[in-house]
Amino acid sequence: MHRELYTMHATNFFVPSFLMAIKDNTEESFRNMMSEPSPGVFTFEMLQPRFCELLLSEVENFEKWVRETKFRIMRPNTMNKYGAVLDDFGMETMLEKLMEDFIRPISRVFFSEVGGSTLDSHHGFIVEYGMDRDVDLGFHVDDSEVTLNVCLGKQFSGGELFFRGVRCDKHVNTETQPEEILDYSHVPGNAILHRGRHRHGARATTSGHRINLLLWCRSSVFRELKKYQKDFSSWCGECQREKKERQQQSVAAIKLELLKWEGEAAS
Ligand SMILES: [Zn+2]
Repeated sequence: MHRELYTMHATNFFVPSFLMAIKDNTEESFRNMMSEPSPGVFTFEMLQPRFCELLLSEVENFEKWVRETKFRIMRPNTMNKYGAVLDDFGMETMLEKLMEDFIRPISRVFFSEVGGSTLDSHHGFIVEYGMDRDVDLGFHVDDSEVTLNVCLGKQFSGGELFFRGVRCDKHVNTETQPEEILDYSHVPGNAILHRGRHRHGARATTSGHRINLLLWCRSSVFRELKKYQKDFSSWCGECQREKKERQQQSVAAIKLELLKWEGEAAS
């Protein structure tokens, strides 16, 4: 067992560029450390290789223990048969700190309209992909406001994430607009951060093993407020499109009325 994984040791866990941006805690410092390949999807270098190795070996220990004792564990969610919930293995405090001190400051800046500044609970787990594990993952949204997804390794090919726009509950199955399409290839140690309602899936991992750390961050305040709202155009791509369409229609109607009135006035 690697005890050093169970309490937050930021300088051992994270790469210097990530630590510096968090310390500065400004939009500019975050933007300098991250890329935004599509609106609302951020990617950045995050974990030290040594930390990835330790966590991978710890996960192997869990799995060995589970196999040998035939202990029945909860799998991470309804979609993954492999992997484990890290909170159930004693990492809850460390992951809570990861959310509070690292993910919430970034989310406050980039995801404030989905409760990014009030993230107050998390679900932390590992997923494992490969030909003898979960192979791929269908199109879905997460049960989170903000999702952190970090690749831990090992060697693999395939397994790209594909993104298809942010949607509210009502619009979750609506069409994708061309500008919403993004494909992302995992790099060990690198993280991707997005809204939970950003529709996505994972393509088949065609060789080797891919193991990722997921942190679903939730806001109870946002979930409560959401119950009383109908218009999610501040973040849902389809609500936004509909709102724009309504505005265009009302502008067209006004123009038409104005033309009619001018016509009548002239006659
Ligand atoms: Zn919507």
